[in-house]
Amino acid sequence: MVTPRRAGRGLRLATRVRLAAISALMLATASAQTPRASLLLQGGWVHTGQDQSMIRADVWLQGDLIVGVGDGSGILAERVLDVSGLVVAPGFIDLHSHAIRGDPERSGLLRWPDAENQIRQGVTTVIGGPDGWSPIPLAATFEQLERHPPAINFGAFVGHGAVREHVVGLDDRPPSEAELAQMRAVVAQAMREGAFGLSSGLVYTPGSFGSTEEIIALAEVAGAQGGIYISHMRNEAREVMASVQELIRIAEEGGLPGQITHAKAMGTEMEGRSVDLLALVDDAVARGLDITLDQYPYTAGSTGLTVQFPLWSRDGGNRVLAERLKQPELRRRIKNHLVEQMKEVRGRNDPANVQLAWCAFDHSLDGLNLAQLLERQGRAVTIESAAELIMELQEKGGCQAIYHAMHEDDVINIMRHPRTMIAADGGVETPGNGHPHPRNYGTYPRVLGRYVRDLGVLPLHTAIHKMTLMPAERIGLDDRGRIESGAVADMVVFDPSNIADKATFTDPHQYAEGMIHVIIAGEAVLRDGRMTGARPGRVLRSTDDTEGH
Ligand SMILES: [Zn+2]
Repeated sequence: MVTPRRAGRGLRLATRVRLAAISALMLATASAQTPRASLLLQGGWVHTGQDQSMIRADVWLQGDLIVGVGDGSGILAERVLDVSGLVVAPGFIDLHSHAIRGDPERSGLLRWPDAENQIRQGVTTVIGGPDGWSPIPLAATFEQLERHPPAINFGAFVGHGAVREHVVGLDDRPPSEAELAQMRAVVAQAMREGAFGLSSGLVYTPGSFGSTEEIIALAEVAGAQGGIYISHMRNEAREVMASVQELIRIAEEGGLPGQITHAKAMGTEMEGRSVDLLALVDDAVARGLDITLDQYPYTAGSTGLTVQFPLWSRDGGNRVLAERLKQPELRRRIKNHLVEQMKEVRGRNDPANVQLAWCAFDHSLDGLNLAQLLERQGRAVTIESAAELIMELQEKGGCQAIYHAMHEDDVINIMRHPRTMIAADGGVETPGNGHPHPRNYGTYPRVLGRYVRDLGVLPLHTAIHKMTLMPAERIGLDDRGRIESGAVADMVVFDPSNIADKATFTDPHQYAEGMIHVIIAGEAVLRDGRMTGARPGRVLRSTDDTEGH
């Protein structure tokens, strides 16, 4: 397979050569005088982004760029930060972010531009448009963000489901030839607007109505313009192996890199099967395909209750689903399916394993699990009554839910795989707003605290690599995710001995601890553990040859 090169790479390289020339010139002219810097970070353990041991070094910046790494004792800096004993790393890059949502009440970065839950994790760049949903056109959202810049950087994928809804609507039918051509044109337009590739969410309405061939047809367009394909696969439980094979086929026939997003083995029967999932990835890589994974470090997932309903019942969207629930025979068939789901998949045979996260029609339900809600209503706590309850909640407008459905050994297996990076699948959250999955507040510090320091699952430098250079290279961000001269100064400084996630499933609105400084484009958004209120975030486009400059 030919891996497409990013169209802008030649230009970007030219820019970096130019920057290197400027730095050389600065050093040459500075031989008569002391080189200057706007900021000098002194004496830290520096992680360059590579999966290598950290080095003891100073790092100095000029404006929004890193201009030196090494012995900074001769540097005259406007501001000096003593970071001895601390880790200095590139800012974390999240390739699966719900920082922009369709729901205006939960519109994330536009509503809460300070993104404190992200910054306190060390996240400096989020890539939105995951799971097949993105705004269309992307350009309008990008312009909105540029008019009201947030604290962190934002980029996006274009979503297959959104493209399908835009052209075909919510019905379960294949597109006509003309519609498919139009879908391809929408993807091409989004790529020109700066998307980093195509995302899909093949469990959702209407993404699940798309055939493999349809997705290949769109993936080709994204791939031809240098994008990747990133997918919430059709099934993450009993049929996960077939779903991985589908993703590999889409990458191969679409001619582009593929990424399994929030990789997991879900449900009672799938315990331990992450080994087989990873073997499929290894086989594909051995055949020369470019397949990667990302993961959030929790044993529970989170998504709408609707995904538990059978595919046929979702044809036409939620309004039609509500009508079907009024017909006794259809309701009975739907209930049977939900009982099966509750037993084997997302419920792991216990209503307590399904926890409500966000019920727009009644926020007093947020945080309760289905067992608690059944008890509160004086009903028997059984799988059957839980299935009944899910239908009732759906009829009232539906809820987001948290599903305790994975085993930690599988989480660890996937995390250890060399082609897995870290991504949160969270968004911009703020205390008091619903009862979100703790991944929104804790993903990155949880990997660094629980999995690196406490359980020794990964060396610290490998974990940081999975949060920085690995995702940057995945989407062709040539001047982020690294600490080197000429890179944009997106950086974090933290104490590896106390970094920790605090958010839990019962008390999710807890900021992570341990981040000391977070710098974005040379500007501190967190200084000495305090938010500064600065909003230096930029829109990152795949088409920018000098993004960030
Ligand atoms: Zn997803």
